[in-house]
Amino acid sequence: MSQYTITVIKSEEEKPKPASDDLSFGRYFTDHMFIQDYSEDKGWHNPRIVPYQPMMLDPASMVFHYGQTVFEGLKAYRTEDGHIQLFRPNKNMERLNRSNDRLCIPSIDEEFGIDAIKHLVHVDHEWVPDAPGTSLYIRPFIISTEAYLGVRPSTTYQFIVILSPVGAYYDAGIDPVKIAVEDEYVRAVRGGTGEAKTAGNYASSLKAQELVAEKGYAQVLWLDGVEKKYIEEVGSMNVFFKVNGEVITPALNGSILQGVTRDSVIQLLKHWDIPVTERRISMEEIYQYHQNGELEEAFGAGTAAVISPIGELAWKGEQMEINQGETGEISRRLYDTITGIQYGVEKDPFHWVV
Ligand code: PMP
Repeated sequence: MSQYTITVIKSEEEKPKPASDDLSFGRYFTDHMFIQDYSEDKGWHNPRIVPYQPMMLDPASMVFHYGQTVFEGLKAYRTEDGHIQLFRPNKNMERLNRSNDRLCIPSIDEEFGIDAIKHLVHVDHEWVPDAPGTSLYIRPFIISTEAYLGVRPSTTYQFIVILSPVGAYYDAGIDPVKIAVEDEYVRAVRGGTGEAKTAGNYASSLKAQELVAEKGYAQVLWLDGVEKKYIEEVGSMNVFFKVNGEVITPALNGSILQGVTRDSVIQLLKHWDIPVTERRISMEEIYQYHQNGELEEAFGAGTAAVISPIGELAWKGEQMEINQGETGEISRRLYDTITGIQYGVEKDPFHWVV
C-alpha cells in the first residue's frame, strides 16, 4: 500500500449536529479525524481517517514539555448550490511546512496534505453548515510524540486534522472593535518563532490579552519585541491602515505571521488599483496621522473574522477613534469580496477557490 493511501474507518454512530445558530467557534467537533504517523525509519506513513476520539499519549511525549508543535487554520465553505469549497489551502500547507522547518519538524507533502483535508471534509461533509456566514473550520496540526525528556527534536510525530463547524463571526454585519496597543508584553522577536504558527506564540500572548480584556478591549495591537515602537499584528490577525487613500501594512520582517488573508487583501487592493505598501510602520507615525486627520481606516485581517475593522485604538492613555468608530469603505469592500469568493457568489479572478 502506498504511503499516500488513506485508510478510512467510519464511525459507528453519528454525533448530533448542533443547530447552525448555536455554533460559536471551536466548540463542536465532527465524527472523524485524520491521523498520520512519522518515524525516522518510515517517514510519514499510515495515513488514516478514523472516528473522532481522545488520543493516548505517553506523559513524557515531547510536545507536552518542549512545545514542539505546529498548526494551521482554514475553512470549508458551503456554496448556495450545496458545493463545498476550500480557500487557498495550498497557502496553509506551504506555511505549515515553513513552521515545520522553524520547529525542526519533518516536512509534509503539501499536495498530500490538501488531499487528506479534502478526503476528511468529504467524509464529514454533512457537518459543513449552510446558514449564512457559517463554515467548517479545519485544524491541521503536528505534535512531537517521542517519550523523552531532554531538549532536542523528537524522532516521532503525528500529523492530525480535526474539523469544527463554526458560526458566523459577526451576528449583525461587521462590527468595529476596540484595540489596546500593548507596550509591555511582546509576542515575538526577529529570530524567534513569530513567523511560525506554533503553540508557544499563542501561550505567550494570553497574559496581555487577559489584561486588556479586563479593560474592555477586544484584542491587543502588538509592537516589535525589541524597541516596542513598530507595529506588528493585532491579536491573531495581520493589520492594515488606510492613510490618505493609501493602504499600508507592516512588512514581513521575520516576526510577523504571513497571513493568507493578508496576502489576499494585498492582491485584491492591487487588482483594484488601490495603492498598497508593505513597510515598517511605527505607532508614533499612526498617532500623528490620526492627529492630522489622515488615518481613514484600520482593520485586522485573518481567517476567523476575514476583516475586523478597528474603531478605536488606545495608546499611552490616548483614545484614538477611527472613522467615527464605523466600518470603513475599504474594510467593507474587502470583507464582501473575500467572503463572496469563499462562498462562491463573487468571481474568483485569482483562482483561490479549490
Ligand atoms: N497572525 C497570527 C498571529 C495568526 O494566528 C493568524 C491566524 N492564522 C493571522 C495572523 C492571520 O493569518 P490567516 O489570514 O492565514 O488566518
